[in-house]
Amino acid sequence: MGKKRLVAISAPSGGGKSVVTRHILNKFPNVIFSVSATTRQSRPNEIDGKDYFFLTKEKFEELIKQNELIEWEELFGNYYGTLKSEVQKAIDNNRTMLFDIDVKGALSLKKHYPDDTILIFLAPPSKEVLIERLKKRGTESEEQLKNRLARAEMEISMSKDFDYIVVNDILDETLQKVEQIFIENCQ
Ligand code: ADP
Ligand code: 5GP
Repeated sequence: MGKKRLVAISAPSGGGKSVVTRHILNKFPNVIFSVSATTRQSRPNEIDGKDYFFLTKEKFEELIKQNELIEWEELFGNYYGTLKSEVQKAIDNNRTMLFDIDVKGALSLKKHYPDDTILIFLAPPSKEVLIERLKKRGTESEEQLKNRLARAEMEISMSKDFDYIVVNDILDETLQKVEQIFIENCQ
């Protein structure tokens, strides 16, 4: 099996993507993060250019027109997209790149780079646990929370086309499983 350069981690909102991404980036210094463009507001703790490129709607639409994005989606009333320049960074530097993107974006990435991509889905142990984790994170209004949960079922149903499904129950076990996927596919 060839070495995989592009690894996408998807999950319903609150599924654990940020936590797992942070862990993998700490554990494997050779892995770089694909910084997506978005029009959503930054959360406290998020850094422009590190977590996302936070853009205006106008600027994002310009990127679409100029064909600067590999894929993009409108999610929860905002645009999110993967920049061609980010993926180029991984290719030019021969590095493994980690993507925190939604299920459709992940499948689209695999379509563009079928031989280089693996897709990991973090499944919540139950709907109740997912709700509890999202609420605990406390970054969404009641309405935003509803929108994010409404999308979760569709996302879970699309995960059947992923290479790996990891049930994110005990966090330490999840981190170990994802580490193992990186060791097997990317080292
Ligand atoms: P996402 O990036 O997919 O939206 P986060 O990584 O922000 O999700 O996780 C949502 C919340 O749930 C965070 O507060 C996170 O610390 C917590 N969390 C994630 N995985 C677990 C787990 N296995 N057990 C307990 N809490 C978790
Ligand atoms: P959040 O607002 O919680 O950071 O992200 C909302 C959703 O957008 C998550 O499912 C996240 O994975 C997804 N997302 C982030 N960046 C991109 C991207 O570049 N493309 C796509 N398709 N989805 C993304």
